Amino acid sequence: MDYAAKEKDADFLMNQVFKVQQNWSQIEAYQEFSEELVRAVVAEGGRLATEVMAPLNEVGDAHGCQLNDGEVTTPPGFKEAFAQITEGGWLGLTGNPAFGGQGMPKSLAGLIEEMFWAANSSLFLYGSLTVGACLSIDAHGSAEQKQTYLEKLYSGQWTGAMALTESHAGTDLGMMRTKAEPQADGSYRITGTKIFITSGEHDMAENIVHLTLARIVDGPKGTKGISLFIVPKFVPNADGSLGPRNGWSSGSLEHKMGINGSATSVINYDGARGFLLGEEHQGLAAMFTMMNYERLSVGLQGLGAGDLAYQHSARYAQDRIQGRSATGAQHPDKEADSLLVHPDVRRMLLTQRAYVEGCRAFAFFAGMQLDEAKHMGDERAERFGQLLTPVVKAFLTDKGLEGAVMAQQILGGHGYVKEWGVEQIVRDARIAQIYEGANGIQALDLAGRKVVRDGGKTLKELLQVLADFELDAGHAPAVSEAFERLRRVTDSMIARSNEDANLPGAVSADFLDLVGMTLCAWAWGVMAQRAGDDDFGVAKKQTARFFFARLLPRTVGLEQGLMADSDVLMDMPEALFSA
Ligand SMILES: Cc1cc2nc3c(=O)[nH]c(=O)nc-3n(C[C@H](O)[C@H](O)[C@H](O)COP(=O)(O)OP(=O)(O)OC[C@H]3O[C@@H](n4cnc5c(N)ncnc54)[C@H](O)[C@@H]3O)c2cc1C
Repeated sequence: MDYAAKEKDADFLMNQVFKVQQNWSQIEAYQEFSEELVRAVVAEGGRLATEVMAPLNEVGDAHGCQLNDGEVTTPPGFKEAFAQITEGGWLGLTGNPAFGGQGMPKSLAGLIEEMFWAANSSLFLYGSLTVGACLSIDAHGSAEQKQTYLEKLYSGQWTGAMALTESHAGTDLGMMRTKAEPQADGSYRITGTKIFITSGEHDMAENIVHLTLARIVDGPKGTKGISLFIVPKFVPNADGSLGPRNGWSSGSLEHKMGINGSATSVINYDGARGFLLGEEHQGLAAMFTMMNYERLSVGLQGLGAGDLAYQHSARYAQDRIQGRSATGAQHPDKEADSLLVHPDVRRMLLTQRAYVEGCRAFAFFAGMQLDEAKHMGDERAERFGQLLTPVVKAFLTDKGLEGAVMAQQILGGHGYVKEWGVEQIVRDARIAQIYEGANGIQALDLAGRKVVRDGGKTLKELLQVLADFELDAGHAPAVSEAFERLRRVTDSMIARSNEDANLPGAVSADFLDLVGMTLCAWAWGVMAQRAGDDDFGVAKKQTARFFFARLLPRTVGLEQGLMADSDVLMDMPEALFSA
């Protein structure tokens, strides 16, 4: 499936909009990442995405994965392409340099991840889970565990997976039953069944390292009794070589709506050897190191899908001739005008584009917060990163699917049949709203934990910081009005939550939408200010104009709906849902 890497957009964000070199020059670990080096990294990442990963996107969808005698075979070409990704060191891009990682900024890595997701989300899943596993091991592992696992994972010789979900315990992990029995040698025997495990079993690496949540027998009930374990497919020997096959297996592969090239397994642990990662009963906190990364990354999956869909529909609209312009024939030499003469087709294209480019900008800003928190010990940046994570995860994946469906609409019937590839984007993008904590859970995390519980302090601090950016004069009043609206809604939500425990959950999805829209408004205000007068810059300014005129006004309706109390939802008796 054709995909064009967004090098120019990456460059624009890094060097014109956010001038990252100024920030990086204050971070010791980033001294060597000059503009030239970074440009070369983005160009090479883009080449890998377009030339190696994208050509396998449809192949992965058509072939899927196969399970035979417990062994999972990935689609043709995946193994070789994955080898190219790993040989280039792409899984260790932000990894700890003490173990072979490259220590690059998360903000930069985000731009590359987006391209990998867009090019082939099924293939990149094998890498993304590995990067997440490394983060948890680096943050919570013993010196020996880091030594044993990190280098092999960064290099892709081994891959990672995260095993949380059980058939009766998805969002509510406190109900999980997988158990861990302490052994005399300090290890644990893990027994239970996990479902939906991405990259849990496959043929692309010699070892697969599961980070598995389980309950130590006789531990506390609920989420406080859950611990995290490293449960490798082959237990490493002391010298790091592969030891005996561990006691877990892939019981079956899930049959899915999309991401068919990604192996999603049921994993049966039959007394498998596991090694505690971090503290006993602190497993959820340790797992969250991985999950927070995955949440940001899955947001970028949505963004990548949105961009891929935009690219397809924009090309199609240019070539497809159908009907005449309302103002008279624009291409009288042809039998009909292109789809681009129709305002409604332009509405769909500009909507896709406004969200893709606006979201890319604020996701990049979120990455910058993580970099500053990590290397400058900036407590405020840490809180900003935490606040923005659920917004990036949910808003980008919601808009990604919305954009993919619009692209499908632009292709008409050709968007519905397989031949043009857009229906695959729709099927592949859908999962990003569900896994890594369904988007409803992200919204609850934002509204309940990150805003109401915090009294709105971090959100208001963030708005203050954003207000200091120089905005395009024409759009600055609309951005301040959007900030004011968000402050108003936030105050009201916090005040009403004191009396009504259901209020945060009742308004959370729309609240997250409002935050996402407000961040997009800010991003477009800044981008319009920094855009030049070449074609690239003119397109930015036109898209900004569209965003402010046609999309931002939706926040007026959102505010109105957000003022309703939870009774409009909760007064309906449970029994009447089936009436
Ligand atoms: C293709 C695929 C790959 C996956 N990969 C992995 C993986 O690698 N590792 C792994 O461990 N898991 C994985 N998952 C599992 C995934 O993370 C879960 O499906 C997801 O977290 C939701 O859990 P659930 O399906 O049990 O839904 P449920 O928890 O039953 O939730 C159903 C719905 O109810 C809502 N809901 C539930 N509780 C609440 C609440 N308290 N408040 C408000 N709303 C609520 C949810 O938002 C959701 O919309 C994968 C799933 C799929 C389909």
